Amino acid sequence: MTAHLIDGTAIANQVKEEIQTAVAQMQAEHGYTPGLATVLVGEDPASATYVRMKQRTCEKLGIRSIGHVLPADASQAEVIKLVASLNADPTINGILVQLPLPKHIDEEAVLNTIDLEKDVDGFHPVNIGRLAMKGRDPLFIPCTPYGCMVLLERSGINTNGAEAVIVGRSNIVGLPMAMLLQKANATVTICHSRTKDLAEHIRRADIVVAAIGWANMITGDMIKPGAAVIDVGINRVDDPSDKRGYKLVGDVDFDSAKEVAGAITPVPGGVGPMTIAMLMKNTLHAAEIALAKK
Ligand code: NDP
Repeated sequence: MTAHLIDGTAIANQVKEEIQTAVAQMQAEHGYTPGLATVLVGEDPASATYVRMKQRTCEKLGIRSIGHVLPADASQAEVIKLVASLNADPTINGILVQLPLPKHIDEEAVLNTIDLEKDVDGFHPVNIGRLAMKGRDPLFIPCTPYGCMVLLERSGINTNGAEAVIVGRSNIVGLPMAMLLQKANATVTICHSRTKDLAEHIRRADIVVAAIGWANMITGDMIKPGAAVIDVGINRVDDPSDKRGYKLVGDVDFDSAKEVAGAITPVPGGVGPMTIAMLMKNTLHAAEIALAKK
């Protein structure tokens, strides 16, 4: 059996087109343009690349992007002061503080400063708390798990009553993913590095979400025939045949898993493109909240 390929690039493009249309409509009807501020502390090349990608996507969709760069030795107070000024700026709808921050800065203290209504990354403890509670909804959903949910929905994968196994319990992926699937009526198991007999748990799953950071860890023999497999992992492995000397692979061994699964996301081209698309969607939503208050 060969699994249906869940094309994250195509689905992300669909989502981005919808956002572009909604942004144009907001401008035409209200003369209002959503604005996203990015805060980068230091010169980590990977972080700088991520910020640039986000800014470029904003420009393509008609969202205003305002970049702030602070030196690597900026103090926590300076970062918090910048965030506070962005909170007070009515032209800014979303604030994105690129993580990780330098080690001398308490990430939680900075993230807690972001105005709840501008928390487009969805990492504010109140948003996460609302995500966890029955009958409450967060203002914003963390972008990567939000993207995974959209991939499932738009691929026609039913979560109602499904057995879902999430491997990984990080604050940015595994944990919110588990909460979202639980809200979508799946029966959820969260696995992590202390889980005994991981393969046994995965074998029961109708939906597997891998967010580990371990190349090709989940193999086809661990997957229930017909299961939907969402691979969040992005790992570099040596590949002398590639001009960069490496290639990117997921946490799932794609070649063996695709023979057993019913549907599967590739890496690259699966979850990755969805993360930025959902950040744009959250920014649009933040602008809608601001407009409704005007
Ligand atoms: P973290 O390192 O924060 O979390 C990894 C999780 O995997 C932890 O909960 C850890 O368990 C668990 N884990 C580690 N080893 C094992 C094991 N042997 N068996 C079972 N579970 C294990 O990673 P992130 O959640 O931030 O990221 C996960 C992956 O997703 C990475 O490859 C990252 O690059 C990728 N990623 C991709 C994104 C995208 O846009 N596509 C966005 C964000 C991340 P424990 O809690 O016990 O330590």
